[in-house]
Amino acid sequence: MQKLKLLYEGKAKKVYETPDADLLIQEFKDDATAFDATKRGTIAGKGVINNKISAKIFELLDTKGVATHFVKLLSDRDMLIKKVKIVPIEVTIRNIVAGGMSKLLDIEEGRRLKTPVLEYHYKEDKLHDPLINDYHIRALELATDAELEEICSSSFTINEILRRFFEEKNLILVDFKLEFGRYRGRILLADEISPDTCRLWDKATNEKLDKDRFRRDLGNVEGAYQEVYRRVVG
Ligand code: UDP
Repeated sequence: MQKLKLLYEGKAKKVYETPDADLLIQEFKDDATAFDATKRGTIAGKGVINNKISAKIFELLDTKGVATHFVKLLSDRDMLIKKVKIVPIEVTIRNIVAGGMSKLLDIEEGRRLKTPVLEYHYKEDKLHDPLINDYHIRALELATDAELEEICSSSFTINEILRRFFEEKNLILVDFKLEFGRYRGRILLADEISPDTCRLWDKATNEKLDKDRFRRDLGNVEGAYQEVYRRVVG
């Protein structure tokens, strides 16, 4: 499948049209940004790693009955995906307190939550993706009731599948972000699932093996991504 016109360029990915109007190519870049792109850098090899980790996870979810936009891997940095219309909501699921929740509620990072927490954020960079709830979503018609129900239940299912999957790799799934899209009247999981979008801690040492190494200047950023790749893709 060949790349035609560049449709969109984001912080970590480029999306191209293909000869098939229903399919796009998602290309993963090494560029990294944090704090609404006020911090910028590159993580050598990240694009290849995130492409392959995402593909592996989308394939796993597919076998468990979760519908995703993933079609197939095309190359080191490229995957073929279904052309969805992204729902402007970012779903965060948290198993352990970290990042935004730690700040919002002044709770120390690392506290294990009694039940997973689901948050919706309005996908709008200039507003810094503000926290919203299901009433905002319905009132502003960001998604229908049926879509929201599907997004919510699918997100918890994905959490259970991924928690177990990462646990087997000696990784703790602290939290992660999901995006969904509309495709032929259905809701599909879209975007990516990678150390850019998940917090992953080593089970034995709690060492951070994700984008927090970049955000917080913890060093050995490439090494952390490579370690997750080794454990997840092999
Ligand atoms: N996340 C993401 N993209 C964003 C914001 C967050 O992929 O624009 C991921 C982040 O990597 C973490 C989870 O969502 O795994 C929760 O992030 P949080 O809300 O704590 O925000 P942060 O601390 O990253 O500002």
